[in-house]
Amino acid sequence: MDLTKYAELAVLLVNGADRLESLAGLRLLLGESGRGARAARATRADLEAMRALRAELVAVFESADAGEEDDAVARLNALLIRHPVHPLISGHDGQRWHLHLNEDGGIADQYAVGCVMGLAALVTDLGVDRLGLCDAAPCRRAFLDTSSNRSRRYCSERCASRANVAAYRARKRRVAV
Ligand SMILES: [Zn+2]
Ligand SMILES: [Zn+2]
Repeated sequence: MDLTKYAELAVLLVNGADRLESLAGLRLLLGESGRGARAARATRADLEAMRALRAELVAVFESADAGEEDDAVARLNALLIRHPVHPLISGHDGQRWHLHLNEDGGIADQYAVGCVMGLAALVTDLGVDRLGLCDAAPCRRAFLDTSSNRSRRYCSERCASRANVAAYRARKRRVAV
């Protein structure tokens, strides 16, 4: 089980504010996260719980991005205490035996365990500074920096080239003056 892969769930949720505007959007997000099988039974209460979870994860990314590592870790620890991990061995769909995290609990509880274990693994393996928010204003989408030299600043290639163009224009303006 690659726990850091689970950290992608946190990124998907932090960047999915528009998905949490409706139950249909939540079902889409669950599908995108590979949890489509559970999407059909999502309720309004699940939507509320996912919004609350998102707010807490945004705060973790904001602290990490601001270099406030103790604060980011304290927030993650609080989430770990509220969402205890409960592993189960599963062998569905003809796959070999593998570990799953919590099969019980509500949709948001299951999602939270994945996010929080993934982030905890990433932070302890690679460092808190691997959680980032895009530097290309006004984007601020979350990303995981898994580059070998911790150089990632943008959520996507698109934002990176947009920021490069803006920097180039700013330099040209300075030269022209
Ligand atoms: Zn499985
Ligand atoms: Zn961006």
